Amino acid sequence: MLTSDAQQAAGQIREWIDSSTCAVAFTGAGISTESGIPDFRSPGGVWSKYRTVYFDEFCESADARHEYWRQKAEAHQEFADASPNVTHRTLADWEASGNLHGVITQNIDGLHQQAGSKRVQELHGTAREVSCLDCGWRDVVDGWVNQFLETDQVPECPECTGRLKHATVSFGQSLPPDVLDTAMQWARQSDLFLALGSSLVVEPAASLPRIAASSGARLVIINRDETPLDGIATLTVRAALGDVFEALNDE
Ligand code: ZN
Repeated sequence: MLTSDAQQAAGQIREWIDSSTCAVAFTGAGISTESGIPDFRSPGGVWSKYRTVYFDEFCESADARHEYWRQKAEAHQEFADASPNVTHRTLADWEASGNLHGVITQNIDGLHQQAGSKRVQELHGTAREVSCLDCGWRDVVDGWVNQFLETDQVPECPECTGRLKHATVSFGQSLPPDVLDTAMQWARQSDLFLALGSSLVVEPAASLPRIAASSGARLVIINRDETPLDGIATLTVRAALGDVFEALNDE
């Protein structure tokens, strides 16, 4: 079924959430743009203004590391200023009340955790932390971005003087296998799979709803634009996430 009626969709989703035993949400850039975070891959996004620093370059070149930190420092403010919206908050409430198993996200902004979600699989890592490529040491990001802005020097790991990088998955870097495994497992176990604000083009984003549907889950896709998986969805909603989730909260 295809609808653009947020109210009607909300009624159906409410019924399914109440009757499901393992609902899983999968979120993409669309949930974060409604919190004011630009879709980094879209026109006007940070990555269209700058050259891409691939993971190999970051590892090998001090100049590439400097360029990476410069770009990340600029993007940092947009993350720091953003706060969770009604969709993030509703997913956190559902988890707390036992109606949602967890959230799988393509986003790196940490807004699900800020909203109170505990079970979050971050496929592309998090921009809220830095990690050392050499020893695995981790820390919250803010102080390190400030240090870079003040000194214009790429920071070193305080434990081993190794290469410090945002704890996100860079272009050319593979996804964390344990996170991916868990996400696949959740998709197989789910009886209701909500794909929210993702164009479902990039892998493994495209695979997870497919796995859920072929394992017998109801697949709900809410996105402003059509996706390649609309044809296998039980319900496709072309509306803003905020409109659907406001309506869900009014029920
Ligand atoms: Zn280190």
